[in-house]
Amino acid sequence: MPINSNKFSADVVCKILSNSGLISEGQKKEILLKKEPLKRKMEKARAMKQPSSKQRFQTSISIVDVITALNLERADNPSNVLDEETIYQALAKGWKIPFKKIDPLKLDLNLVTTTIPHTFAMNHMTVPLEKKDGYLIVATINPFNREVMQDIAQASHLKVRPVLSTRTDILKLINEFFGFKRSITAAENEFSGPTIDLGNLEQFVRLRSAEEMPSSTDQHIVNAVEHLFSSAFDQRASDVHIEPKRDKSIVRLRIDGALHTVYELPKNVHSAIISRVKNLARLDMAEKRRPQDGRIKMEKEGIEAEIRVSSIPVAFGEKLVMRIMDPDVLFQDLENLGFTSMDLVRYHQFINMPHGIVLVCGPTGSGKSTTLYSTLRYLSSPDINITTVEDPIEMIHEDFNQISVQPVVGITFASILRNILRQDPDIIMLGEMRDLETAENAVQAALTGHLVLSTLHTNDAPSTITRLLDLGTPSFLIQATLVGIIAQRLVRKICPHCKEPFEIKGSELTSLGLDLGADDEMELHRGKGCFKCRNTGYLGRCGIYEVLPITEAIKKNIVPEADSVTVRDIARREGMITMCENAVQHLLEGVTTYEEFLRVTLEQL
Ligand SMILES: [Zn+2]
Repeated sequence: MPINSNKFSADVVCKILSNSGLISEGQKKEILLKKEPLKRKMEKARAMKQPSSKQRFQTSISIVDVITALNLERADNPSNVLDEETIYQALAKGWKIPFKKIDPLKLDLNLVTTTIPHTFAMNHMTVPLEKKDGYLIVATINPFNREVMQDIAQASHLKVRPVLSTRTDILKLINEFFGFKRSITAAENEFSGPTIDLGNLEQFVRLRSAEEMPSSTDQHIVNAVEHLFSSAFDQRASDVHIEPKRDKSIVRLRIDGALHTVYELPKNVHSAIISRVKNLARLDMAEKRRPQDGRIKMEKEGIEAEIRVSSIPVAFGEKLVMRIMDPDVLFQDLENLGFTSMDLVRYHQFINMPHGIVLVCGPTGSGKSTTLYSTLRYLSSPDINITTVEDPIEMIHEDFNQISVQPVVGITFASILRNILRQDPDIIMLGEMRDLETAENAVQAALTGHLVLSTLHTNDAPSTITRLLDLGTPSFLIQATLVGIIAQRLVRKICPHCKEPFEIKGSELTSLGLDLGADDEMELHRGKGCFKCRNTGYLGRCGIYEVLPITEAIKKNIVPEADSVTVRDIARREGMITMCENAVQHLLEGVTTYEEFLRVTLEQL
């Protein structure tokens, strides 16, 4: 392979890097001295890594691979390592060729996989990305290989415009797209159905890393589903939708709140994929007309995650939605949830009570599950029996005894609650207090010496008291058992990779409905948008809270004619920080933006 054509020689590459200030003279010498022996070593290692499969690829080790492997300090910024992407970016500049960071979500599976064969793409680390202005844009690690570009031009009947990308990006794209395509095509051709395999409560699926994606073409559907999960993980997707249409099936991923169509599948593969996922989730494979729910436990690179699967019949077949429950999100240290230090102290006081009721409030999607699960994990210890009653169980944790509500067969919150009291629990988590019977049972449990955690769909902490009274819970029982209430919302956090300060006039904010009591210029933050956050400027979310302890003064106001305004006033006099105030703190500390502040506060505070 002519990868060492002149422009790609070690001398030229080193010269560009040193002209860009990335390497010193000493490092240049080190590279030239070590490159040959290191290259031989890496070639051996790469050959070992390739299994004895029929498909052997002949990508050679380039000078960039060698320099990357040396893990050099950047001469212009010694606290950073000279990585592959920085090198390619510098080379692109030096060669006056565009550098392209590959975003698989923006690509067309068919274009990528049908223009050139898989082996050709692998051997030359070259892959077509898109058609643009009559040109075929091709990502490559070596734009000077004229034969390769000519071959692609001939195959596609298009003029080729090469762009430089990293080997890592290209390899990942090839593995993901060709792997998926191969599985789908093979499945389409010689259909092999999934095998029935009833395992434990949870099926355990280990995802292969990109390097060890199988090349054999058996178990196509199994592989295709693995590819799906794998790309969902890689893209930080929260949901995967597989939707049947009249003559095809589409796969969409939800990333940071927005849906992206990633694949179109042949219609005849659709039901096989659905069956495979239903099998993994232990759903009834024969039942196609009624909605079903299940779960799959997965592991990828040592991280365990749970996937909640829901199937529902739609006009053209079964639609499947898989929600990826990330344990890093659901189980957090209480310190990281977003409480102020004062609120955290108060919350600790609530949950360290031997008995009583602690309520977490907010609408759907406000992060209540994360707060409850994180709390239970914090409280769990071998000498404590934690029992949860949920609808449905969001995430299985082996330290808890989790019971799922099944109203169809008469297993309700209330009926389970009556029974679990005989199971000697210390702490009970009730998914939701939705009716009087459940509330009464929760009160009973608290009165008999249990700590009960639950949720209510109320907008703020004070109105939770009136909601409990509205349900019909006697006020003296609320007084006797309620320990504290927290209300919460989630705000999107500014992406740390592209965060920047900017000046804005206080008066301008006031006109938007955000009165911070200052008219002058003030400094806030925002995300410029970068690759890591998909140009949204946001990455991750955190809670804003309102923590209300049930003090003596509050208790006196838990009366049948109680109104939440009075309760709120007392609570604020006693030091409660409202959600709105907490949001302002997040804004001023540069955690979130004023747009995000306005979104959550105007919505329902
Ligand atoms: Zn960003």
